[in-house]
Amino acid sequence: MTNLPYQSSFFLISNQTTWDSNTYTYAEKTFCKIFQSHAHAMQRVKQFAQEVYRGFREVSPFIESITSEVCPSCNDICCINKHGFYNFEDLIYIYALGLKPPAPDFMKKETDPCNFLSPRGCIMDRSVRPSGCNWYFCDSLFDSMETRSGYQTFDEALGRMAELWMKMASEFRNAGILLAG
Ligand code: SF4
Ligand code: SF4
Repeated sequence: MTNLPYQSSFFLISNQTTWDSNTYTYAEKTFCKIFQSHAHAMQRVKQFAQEVYRGFREVSPFIESITSEVCPSCNDICCINKHGFYNFEDLIYIYALGLKPPAPDFMKKETDPCNFLSPRGCIMDRSVRPSGCNWYFCDSLFDSMETRSGYQTFDEALGRMAELWMKMASEFRNAGILLAG
């Protein structure tokens, strides 16, 4: 296990889900530095992130076959600004994939339409959306999913991905980044 030199300065908390501009900028710089400077220690984190990424690519067609039917008639669209932010673990995932997160819009209200929503739906590939989008299935979506023949396979795949996600986050913390609240 490698201890990384961020224990005293890393003031983010591991369940961070809301941000202000300064904290978010600090988080971006810190994650960037960790993944650049400690590539070896982050190797397993990256492997788990890649497996989750492949999982999302695999389940995406099943989800989209249902959202394309259910979402167009929705009266309470969930794509609002507060759901379009990456949380702490999402940032681990994004940086582990070697990506840079798109800039959030801190000027918008939480209930405004999400920054990434276009007339044709989300502009982000599902595999790199915030987890608030990817792990959330509203009742309408879920009810419809359960009736499909591919549901069992999808459900099992999602379970495996959730385990991999937890391993990814745990591996990141075990690498020595002790987070001060
Ligand atoms: S996922 Fe559910 S809540 Fe969100 S737009 Fe589709 S039907 Fe509406
Ligand atoms: S699915 Fe896309 S548009 Fe909808 S809240 Fe998530 S990031 Fe925003």
